[in-house]
Amino acid sequence: MRRPLIVGNWKMNKTASEAAAFIRDLRERVPASPHAEVVLAPPFTAIESARNALGPSSYFSLGAQNVHWETHGAFTGEVSAPMLCDLGCRYVIVGHSERRALFGERDEHIQMKVRAALRHGLSPILCVGESLVHREAGRTESVVTAQLSGTLEGLTTQDLATVTIAYEPVWAIGTGRAATTEQAVTVHRSIRLFMETGWDSKTASAIRILYGGSVTPQNIESLLASDSIDGALVGGACLDPDSFATIIEFAQTARA
Ligand code: PEP
Repeated sequence: MRRPLIVGNWKMNKTASEAAAFIRDLRERVPASPHAEVVLAPPFTAIESARNALGPSSYFSLGAQNVHWETHGAFTGEVSAPMLCDLGCRYVIVGHSERRALFGERDEHIQMKVRAALRHGLSPILCVGESLVHREAGRTESVVTAQLSGTLEGLTTQDLATVTIAYEPVWAIGTGRAATTEQAVTVHRSIRLFMETGWDSKTASAIRILYGGSVTPQNIESLLASDSIDGALVGGACLDPDSFATIIEFAQTARA
């Protein structure tokens, strides 16, 4: 059984001191549970204070929102996988649609990022998803499949054991218009089929596939009621401790 995973993508929100205060609040609201995993992905500048506020052996894991594929060098403004590992990150989000749309990231870059993360023991959370134009043209599956093959091609089954896929329809991100559970399940099934065809059924049934796009305390229960949806990548609702704690609580009971 795949353990539900909830990832909070803070995007460009919270200073280092705001991060520490937020985490102290969240820790009081969320009990540890073996039934779900939780990752916090603050901006780079708040990772260290987040780590200090979490303390040693915290229930929460840390993730970053991006990574460069090289380890060091003349890449102004970039951050590498060893730097993130040194700060205590275990996860990294790659290929978020905002990175693709606003910063020109293409599948070839994302593939290098996935590989760099894996080389250094970071677990990549790979985002894929179609635009509204693609959905309305009936191209959802072909777009998502092309993103998967462009970023995962050549990875071994062993590599894939630590990869998580986040299906995030672009039209649902930050819009308040979440996909229905049925829409998400249809795409999740096609992703799992793609993994089975490209690798094997063991890999396909083990990989976690999250849904992301306007997840809230109101819709999380329905999403997690499907055994095709293994958790959520949460943007806006993860910034509010009450909302995020409620989302986590649903995940902790969904497959308990
Ligand atoms: C995201 O940033 O990945 C996201 C899903 O944002 P939101 O939950 O705000 O739609």
